[in-house]
Amino acid sequence: MPGKHSVLKNVFGYEHFRRGQEDIIDSILSGRDILAVMPTGAGKSLCYQIPALLLDGITIIVSPLISLMKDQVQALQDNNVAAAFINSSLSADEYTQTMRGARNKAYKIIYIAPERLSQSAFADFPDWLATSPISLVVIDEAHCVSHWGHDFRPSYMRVTPFIDALPKRPVVAAFTATATERVKTDIQNALALQNPFLITTGFDRPNLYFSVEKPENKMRSLKKHLARLKNKSGIIYCSTRRHVEDVCDTLADSGFSATRYHAGLTPDERRLNQDDFIYDRKTIMVATNAFGMGINKSNVSFVIHHNMPKNIESYYQEAGRAGRDGSGAECILFYNYEDVKTNEFLIEKSAEENGGTGLTAYNLELLKQITFYATSTDCLRGRLLSYFGETPSNYCGACSNCDAQFENVDITLAAQKIISCVYRLKQRGKRFGKTIIIQILRGSKNAKIMNANLNDLSVWGIMKDSSEHEIRDIIDFLVSKEYLALSEGEFPALIESGKSGEIIFDKKPLEMMLPKKEPAGASKTSGKIDPVQDGELLLRLKTLRTELAASARTPAYIIFSDASLNAMCRRLPQTQAEFLEIPGVGAVKAEKYCASFTRVIREYMTEA
Ligand code: ADP
Ligand code: ZN
Repeated sequence: MPGKHSVLKNVFGYEHFRRGQEDIIDSILSGRDILAVMPTGAGKSLCYQIPALLLDGITIIVSPLISLMKDQVQALQDNNVAAAFINSSLSADEYTQTMRGARNKAYKIIYIAPERLSQSAFADFPDWLATSPISLVVIDEAHCVSHWGHDFRPSYMRVTPFIDALPKRPVVAAFTATATERVKTDIQNALALQNPFLITTGFDRPNLYFSVEKPENKMRSLKKHLARLKNKSGIIYCSTRRHVEDVCDTLADSGFSATRYHAGLTPDERRLNQDDFIYDRKTIMVATNAFGMGINKSNVSFVIHHNMPKNIESYYQEAGRAGRDGSGAECILFYNYEDVKTNEFLIEKSAEENGGTGLTAYNLELLKQITFYATSTDCLRGRLLSYFGETPSNYCGACSNCDAQFENVDITLAAQKIISCVYRLKQRGKRFGKTIIIQILRGSKNAKIMNANLNDLSVWGIMKDSSEHEIRDIIDFLVSKEYLALSEGEFPALIESGKSGEIIFDKKPLEMMLPKKEPAGASKTSGKIDPVQDGELLLRLKTLRTELAASARTPAYIIFSDASLNAMCRRLPQTQAEFLEIPGVGAVKAEKYCASFTRVIREYMTEA
């Protein structure tokens, strides 16, 4: 019997296991249940596909998304592994055929949607489960069994009864990218895991560059980034359907190759748009968080969050869809305070709709955590990793905060001026939101200010040399440190807090970290990954890949990932033995593709 190393090399074309993979495979092969927490892109699939090929019986994989199943099955078939899927995308005929194949033990690996797990779904083939030797049941995206996760799915409740109904209990292996203790405990209980091997691999994704920006105009910043990231594939996440429409329309009008995805579109349009993105016909996907789970596209080079998500878990999962093949990729979060307010509103609304589930306080706390992330001046990667329970170093060198030069600035005077303004207004029995306060301090003469006679306040115009942005940053800082407070309600006003007196009466000195001012004329490029132009050879290899993918009707990355093509450009393989050395090239792919790829490489080299 071949070992796990030879399967890794011969079937999947990889030399080494990644962190955690080998332990997980060993545990499954020894017959022990597992619960593995691994971030998106860490390589979960191989953890169960390799044991599936080594175990005697059949492996069933429960997976929530149709597109993922199709993708994984195509990828396996491309490596000559007998695999199939059962979900609602099959026609009646296809379903019957697949079930017949399953009964005849034609497949080693079968993906099943959770909705299909109830007994009645298999009623036409009653003997199948009773006679099939099922060695392993894998539950992908296992957090879907938990109410505490961010994506509870009732159909996941069918998994355990399904396993219990099998003649012999298989090994049960649960995978998720969600790490909170509550979710982990829920998964263990709901799936009745038996003495599971618990493993949480590191959450770090070293090839991802993290940045947070506070753009004055999100659309303008977005376009700037997209121009820089030209021809690269990426996802732009927006919080609502309306935002998705707006952003997508604006981008399309400006000539970007953008498509969209949200729950309000017809299933046909969703499928079409998703395929346009996956098959590289469109490079930019603008979407709500309805898009992405189960999307296997490995060459996503950037994920931009146009709106801040509700919690760090969702953020990390969505951002983590970038750079799955290990190539450098960017994760950019656009932050503004309005997004915090919108999220608060949504959390409270959903609590009302669900009759107060008791989750509100918990969800608001999670929102606070991501707000800290977005406003922090610490290493962003450090922030993320410590959220997931790791103890990272405080400098990663690959995030916008590590790259930015922050300096400690004395803001004592500015704080006194801002808080005085709030006091003066209070003396007149008035209170205003941030925008008006800033206008007063900067000496604005707009109608609102003049009509309310705010220009005769002693504080009017006392900060006319500071930019709106600077004052806003300082106000946010004062609120976060509770030297000022925000009133309740839809339009929160800035009000004094118990600590305001420390600043204006006790003259407490105050410092805050602010980005260093750029010397005049210095050009600022954000993002660390240069817009490298693809070389001539890479372009030719991509063209070949596109042709092969079109005739095989698969997405290009199923044939080879960008990482594999890049390796070909570096190593210029000439023979089948050399071709086999390329990561991602196993025996079957070497046989299928060596001739055509090495021909293109040879042609290129003789011309050069
Ligand atoms: P996940 O399901 O954890 O998000 P995948 O299973 O889709 O991640 O794997 C992400 C990518 O990493 C895939 O392109 C896969 O082929 C690749 N990969 C997985 N394991 C290895 C390995 N040991 N060596 C190199 N690449 C790997
Ligand atoms: Zn950092």
